[in-house]
Amino acid sequence: MTDTKRNDVPYKIYLSEEEMPKYWYNVRADMKTKPAPLVNPGTGEPMKPEELLPVFCKEAIDQEFDNDTAYVEIPEDIRNFYKMYRPSPLTRAYCLEEKLGTPAKIYYKFEGNNTSGSHKLNSAIAQAYYAKHEGLKGVTTETGAGQWGTALSMACAYLDLDCRVYMVKVSYEQKPFRREVMRTFGASVTPSPSMETAVGRKILAEHPGTTGSLGCAISEAVEDATSHEGYRYVLGSVLNHVLLHQSIIGLETKAALDKYGVKPDIIVGCAGGGSNLGGLISPFVGEMLRGENDYQIIAVEPASCPSFTRGKFAYDFCDTGNICPLAKMYTLGADFIPAPNHAGGLRFHGMSPILSQLYHDGYMEARAVPQTEVFEAAEYFARCEGILPAPESSHAIKVALDEAKKCKETGEEKVIVIGLTGTGNFDLVAYQKFNDGIMDDYVPTDGELEASFAKLPKVE
Ligand SMILES: *Cc1c(COP(=O)(O)O)cnc(C)c1O
Repeated sequence: MTDTKRNDVPYKIYLSEEEMPKYWYNVRADMKTKPAPLVNPGTGEPMKPEELLPVFCKEAIDQEFDNDTAYVEIPEDIRNFYKMYRPSPLTRAYCLEEKLGTPAKIYYKFEGNNTSGSHKLNSAIAQAYYAKHEGLKGVTTETGAGQWGTALSMACAYLDLDCRVYMVKVSYEQKPFRREVMRTFGASVTPSPSMETAVGRKILAEHPGTTGSLGCAISEAVEDATSHEGYRYVLGSVLNHVLLHQSIIGLETKAALDKYGVKPDIIVGCAGGGSNLGGLISPFVGEMLRGENDYQIIAVEPASCPSFTRGKFAYDFCDTGNICPLAKMYTLGADFIPAPNHAGGLRFHGMSPILSQLYHDGYMEARAVPQTEVFEAAEYFARCEGILPAPESSHAIKVALDEAKKCKETGEEKVIVIGLTGTGNFDLVAYQKFNDGIMDDYVPTDGELEASFAKLPKVE
């Protein structure tokens, strides 16, 4: 590549503290078709906010139901916490572009610059702040690989709140590092399913020896919160208010690009429950919804857990114990558990109702990628850019590389923005499998998915 290209914009675009957004952006305000409401599994009727009061913090509920307020002020205490690790840099991947020999211009928004190592801290601190503000003693949650639990434990330590984490048993046993970070920040960590909750005991009785799942850990965390005075449950993805908090990612990205007059053509992010992608694309989709601009938005998911590309758009449970409200989303069925050899994260069976509606309405596309190709992309990226990406983030990298290679063929100078959600520093067991050549690509059969769809609840 020529030096003139290198002089385009700096390697890293930093925003000042002053330029950090003071408001979150609620994309629902601009959606013509709003995401479908949560439904009470008992009555089949839309959930009323007051029915959720025993489960969630009040402010989180208000935000969850607010489809109209476009800009929500970020409380000053949360902004002050954000300032410890934000604004996060937007980096131009010059070295990657050069290695690829592509005319594409690639940027990545890196959210791994904090000890928990991912974007999840953006919502953890907000939810912990509301719990503290409402006079609660503590919060409960579930965690899979541990990123969310780690983020929440950091936020709770900062605010002096009790934090109880149900960690999927297989991760608890195989991934001791994040578990110990959580304990260091003062959280209690219980392997799920456990004997401490009724739902945990029931699942253990029905499936002895099970290594657990996210859906099961959610059920336990909800039961723990609702059966203890002064506790509420918090969730790190999927829900509308989580996407609201994560809009900080997209707002910063847009501010940084606007500073240099750069307009993205393609915005690509990984999608597990949809929170980072929802946050990244919110301000851009807002422009699309208002008819001001157009972007190609790509959600990337694992071929082993393909909610968008092979799921059904239907009401489903968010948890295995079927105690949470029903959400209308792209889902593989609440009982779907990705193959145990799937190491790349993004294991949740459903998808954010906001993203599901946007996808359904044609505002974004989705691709499913096999995990060995994801790790190849991760390795390629690491060797060029000097960041060891999280396996989850590497799904987005994989598709960004595909798109940059297409540009090489066509000569198009497309601007590609990648949501780089975190580091893979604690995911070395997965990298080890890849390096040892023992990682494989399990893809569920149609029969397996049909069996799971057959158990979807019947709701209109
Ligand atoms: C949790 C996580 C994800 C996926 O969650 P979303 O809610 O889909 O954003 C992606 N990347 C990293 C690093 C994560 O920790």
